[in-house]
Amino acid sequence: MSRDYDAIVVGARCAGASTAMLLARAGLRVLLVDRSAFPSEIAHGHFIHRHGPGRLKKWGLLDRLLATGCPPSTTFALDTGEVRLVGKDLVHDGVAFGYGPRRSALDWTLVKAAIDAGADFRPSFAVTEYVFDDDRVVGLRGTDRSGGRLHSERASITIGADGRGSQLARTVRAAEYDVVPTLTCWFFSYWSDVPATGLEVYSRHERVIFAFPTNDGLIAIFVAWPICEQSAVQSDIERHFMAAIDLAPELAARVRAGRRAERFRGAAHLPNFLRTPGGPGWALVGDAGCHKDPYLALGVCDAFRDAELLAIAVEDGLSGKRPLASGLLEYERRRNEATSPEYQLNLRRARFEPPTEDELSAQRGLVGNQDATNRFFMASEGMIQQEAPIPLHGCREHNAPSSLRSIRDQWRRSWSLEL
Ligand SMILES: Cc1cc2nc3c(=O)[nH]c(=O)nc-3n(C[C@H](O)[C@H](O)[C@H](O)COP(=O)(O)OP(=O)(O)OC[C@H]3O[C@@H](n4cnc5c(N)ncnc54)[C@H](O)[C@@H]3O)c2cc1C
Repeated sequence: MSRDYDAIVVGARCAGASTAMLLARAGLRVLLVDRSAFPSEIAHGHFIHRHGPGRLKKWGLLDRLLATGCPPSTTFALDTGEVRLVGKDLVHDGVAFGYGPRRSALDWTLVKAAIDAGADFRPSFAVTEYVFDDDRVVGLRGTDRSGGRLHSERASITIGADGRGSQLARTVRAAEYDVVPTLTCWFFSYWSDVPATGLEVYSRHERVIFAFPTNDGLIAIFVAWPICEQSAVQSDIERHFMAAIDLAPELAARVRAGRRAERFRGAAHLPNFLRTPGGPGWALVGDAGCHKDPYLALGVCDAFRDAELLAIAVEDGLSGKRPLASGLLEYERRRNEATSPEYQLNLRRARFEPPTEDELSAQRGLVGNQDATNRFFMASEGMIQQEAPIPLHGCREHNAPSSLRSIRDQWRRSWSLEL
């Protein structure tokens, strides 16, 4: 039976399910649809760090995620080949710096929270077209799993959380800006019997390797190459993947002693862009509104943040607290303000720009000082904002009293101390 909703959200993964949950918790009538069946995987990554774990805790979902068997990541090993730093015990207020849940576990946890909050959920529902009244989006049509019957739904606002290729964004011709074409290609898989306590990042010769523990006792390993190498890598993924892993011998030894548990998956269409995320009767959230190369692994935590920003705009707009149009402009402003510095940093990383001498010397300055290293990682992950100076051995520029924050800011512009 058709009914009018306050909001329809298309796409029920980290951006869409979070948005639907927040809107439903605010008392709005919400329909959440996705063409996939749930729970299910999607060939995307899933390491959540920075502000992501804190949001899950605030939303009351961190314990539910842990209950799926997702282990916390409490160590962060950063290995550039020349310098290796390992942050340990990276836990603050009971929240680890990172978690790597499989997407089936994460997305389903979020969808269930949306349903618990009162949202109607329709999996295996493919949106085929959007419905307009003049230039205003007023709903959509789509087919359910039988593929036969066309259903129509109407809402005050229709939200595209339908990923980087967003059909809604194309339909409304959402403007794109700061566009940079695909820089890297990624392949990944999962291994059993490979011990790991947290995130490991290895950067070597225009390759970057990320490894982290995930559900079912598996370790996830992601490798990126410059996009120009895509066809070579794709011609023999296993050989190129293992050749990249062999650049980090200690990881390679552990991986070779384990067993690959799943097939390789990959992604090679990864353009960088921001899109105008709102207009008459529509809004975009998650990758649909801003897509970044996965280098810094920001997609999931940023989707959570933008879900909150959009939910505020929609709630205020539909309750009459302020016009929806101005709320959506404010959403865009706040999203861009939050994302722009890291968007630029991420582009530098994804271009495999080499570290400067200053950057390298700053990294060397932490070697051998475990306490400073731990505090550095916690500050760079946004877990602490400590103003006390930290001693950095052998690094003249940083030996003068300076705050961890300012070092963090300096390093944010530097080599890959952040995923
Ligand atoms: C290789 C790779 C590694 C990554 N690694 C990380 C990482 O470690 N950490 C991190 O934070 N981010 C990572 N990312 C980015 C992250 O995966 C994305 O930012 C995130 O998935 C975006 O979520 P989303 O909800 O916006 O969109 P998506 O996850 O793309 O979900 C979109 C949903 O919309 C549905 N949909 C689309 N069209 C329709 C339609 N017409 N009708 C109905 N439903 C529709 C789809 O079925 C899908 O379920 C990685 C990405 C890639 C490709």
